[in-house]
Order: sequence, then C-alpha cells, then structure tokens
Amino acid sequence: MRPLSHSSITLYLDCPQKYKFRYIDKIPEKPKHFFSFGRSVHSALEYFYNVPAAPPPGLPEVLAHYKARWVSEGYKDASQEAEYFDEGRRILEQFHARHAPQFAPPFFAEYRFDLKVDGIPVTGFVDRIDRVGSDRIAIIDYKTGKSFGEDRVRADAQLTMYQMACEELLGLRVESLTFYHLNSLTPLTAPPHSADQVAGLRRRIVSVADSIRKEAFEPRPEERKCTWCDYKPLCPVFRADNAPLLAGSSQGLGERSTASAPPLLAGSSPDAAREEFHLARGTGRDTGGRGSTSSAPVLAAHMAAGNASGGGWDFGEDAELAALIDRYGRLLEEISGARTQAQDLSAEISSRLQELGGFKAFSSRYEANLSLEEKWEFSDKAKILDAIRRAGRWEDVLAPSAPLVQKLLEDPAVPRELRERLLRLAKKVTRPSLQIKKLEPETAPG
Ligand code: SF4
Repeated sequence: MRPLSHSSITLYLDCPQKYKFRYIDKIPEKPKHFFSFGRSVHSALEYFYNVPAAPPPGLPEVLAHYKARWVSEGYKDASQEAEYFDEGRRILEQFHARHAPQFAPPFFAEYRFDLKVDGIPVTGFVDRIDRVGSDRIAIIDYKTGKSFGEDRVRADAQLTMYQMACEELLGLRVESLTFYHLNSLTPLTAPPHSADQVAGLRRRIVSVADSIRKEAFEPRPEERKCTWCDYKPLCPVFRADNAPLLAGSSQGLGERSTASAPPLLAGSSPDAAREEFHLARGTGRDTGGRGSTSSAPVLAAHMAAGNASGGGWDFGEDAELAALIDRYGRLLEEISGARTQAQDLSAEISSRLQELGGFKAFSSRYEANLSLEEKWEFSDKAKILDAIRRAGRWEDVLAPSAPLVQKLLEDPAVPRELRERLLRLAKKVTRPSLQIKKLEPETAPG
C-alpha cells in the first residue's frame, strides 16, 4: 500500500472520501498560496542549514536562493504574492540575524524517514534534527501562518510521529520537540511525547491502514470542511440525488440551499467540474500539510499518453470510455434541464396558490403544501462580516451563512450594538416554501 504520512492520516480521519479523491483517484487539489509560501521559506532554511560546518551561507545567498526557488502558485494576484514574498524576506532576514552568529550545523536538515509500523509503510520529513550530547537529539519543525500555543507542541501527532521515527531509525533518544513559528521567530518546545501518545499513534496508523485496505471511503461532510473543499464538485454528498443533504452545509449569506443547483449541475457539464482542478506540479514529496502535489503525475501521465489539445483530454481509441463520458454528460444535461423546469413549476404553483389564497392543493397523484417562512436576508455581506469581526464574534460565523448570522441575532449574549447593526443591515422577507408529496392511491381525492 501507499506509505502513510502524517498529512495523509490526518486527511483520512478528516474525511475518508477526500482521502480517496486525493490519494486513490489522484486528483490534485488546487494550489494554495499558504502552502506555496511555506515551501518557499522552508526551502531557504534548508539551504541555510545544509552545510557541513560553519560559517553558514550569508544573507544575500539565502535571499538569492529564496528568490530562485520561490513557489508562485496559488496566490490570488500579483499584489498578494508580492506581500507574501516580502513577508518571507523579512522572516529570513531576522532568522539569519538571530541564528547565523552562533551557527552550528545540524545533525540533519530535511531528514526523510521511511519506517514500518506493524508492517504498514510510514514516511515523512523532519525539517531539522540537532544533536544533543552523544545519544540524544532535538527535533525542530518550522511552521508558518497563524501562531499557536505550547499545548499544541505537547499534543501534536506530527511531532509524535517524528519522535517515533527518529528514535526507531536513528537509535537516539529524543530530548525535545519544537515547533518553530517563523512569522514571530518563536520556538515553542516541549518534552518528548509519552509512550501512551506513541502507542496511540501506532494504533491510529494500523486502524487507518485497515480502513483504507477495506476501501472505507465514506464522505464525512461538515460545513467547516466542505465549504473549502476542492472536491466538492465531485463529492457524492453534493450530487443532485443527494441535494437535500446540502441544507445548511454550503450556503452563503442570503442564499438558500434548496434553491442552488448542485455544483456539478451548475456547470452543466462534467468538464466544468473537472476544469475546477488543475494539473499541479509534482514535488515528489508528501510534505505533511505543505501542499504537496505529488499525486499530480498520474493525471499528468494521462495527459501525456493521450493527445491533449487546447487544454482538453482525448483518450484516442477508447470508444467505450468516450461513450460513457457522452452518456454521463447527456444525463447531467437532462438533470440540469429537469431541475430548471422543476424550479419554474414550483414558482408557478406557489404563486397560483397564493393568488387563490390557499395553502394546499391536489392532483391525482400529488399533494402540494405551501407554507410561508419568515427569514432575514443579509445583502451587504462585507459590512455584515466587518460588524461581526469588530465585535469579536468572528469564531461564531467562521463559515458565514445566513442561518448562522440569524442564530447570532437570537443569542442573548450578543452585544446590543452588534445586534442593532446587523438588524440595520438585514431585511425581513417572507418566502413561499413548497413541498410535494406522493399520495398513496387510496388517499387520492376522487
Ligand atoms: S465536500 Fe465535504 S464530504 Fe465531500 S470530500 Fe470534501 S470534505 Fe469530504
């Protein structure tokens, strides 16, 4: 089986379906700027430490390496990229000023490990290992991004995995574990993780490997995860036949889940969804959450084997595959057309019922029930978010949606100023909500 890494285990535990898309189907995720930034800074630090003896490379050399190896994918635009590039330069300047004067070459810079846990292959990279005395080591892993507390260093399974691998493969005792937060130049250090933590990790590795072997890839949807998931257009949870599952899980401010077409249908063809994904550059390294795109070559290989033209995909002689794609595309078009017709009919029935002043009507096979729902609509999203952020309630609406903001309005602990500000930005509307129910033959009128 494919070696497990800290990031692939975490991904599996987060959502097995997402793991399948990424590691079994080998569909790369979109590049993320924060991963690109992390990789760029890590590469410069590896260059700084990768010398056999003092002195280390000077700052101009480190910065030249940083510039040459800058990973520019995933940034929103040139200005965001420039901002991050400057932040990386600031980090490297300060890091160099602090660590070059007392430089000691590390035991390892970028230590790759491959070990077996109960026969299961496990792999990873440790950013830096320092020797402490003759039989002990210190493990250091660099982090960019948001700051964190020491409790994370004491509990993080990534460090447990590094400790387990280094002790087993190098035969040296781990003295300390450090996450070095680069943006603030703050090393946070904890003592080695306990035997219980290591045993727990081993059990987790075995259990994840077992589930992967059994092909247990059920989706585990949660608003927090699905909102930002690149695989949403392909995910069974968000397909047309599962549309009701969308409720409350993906809508934005002022949007209704039942009114929005599932992502695949929105684009009306499978190409629209597929083009959401890119052919990422493979790095050949699973970087434990640093945005590795090592699974990309499989898609890239398909592209090379077929006759890619104009960004399209052509598998030449495979008529059966072409027929399947054709059938699938036509079905999606039909579903999309049917959905539009159903929405139009729903609007017409609702309006006819309202005109007639009724809430219930029958055909020979169906019963239609109309109810009126009151809800708030929030039109100026930017102002709503700004108001919540200023009031320190950002955590409550991390993936902001109308129902969550509405919940915030009902929370008695919300400060009056925030509530009043939100209400000023909101509008109460009444919307018809129509349900269609199939009648059993004996209950149909007439
Ligand atoms: S959309 Fe949600 S359920 Fe589907 S793969 Fe992504 S995280 Fe998992």
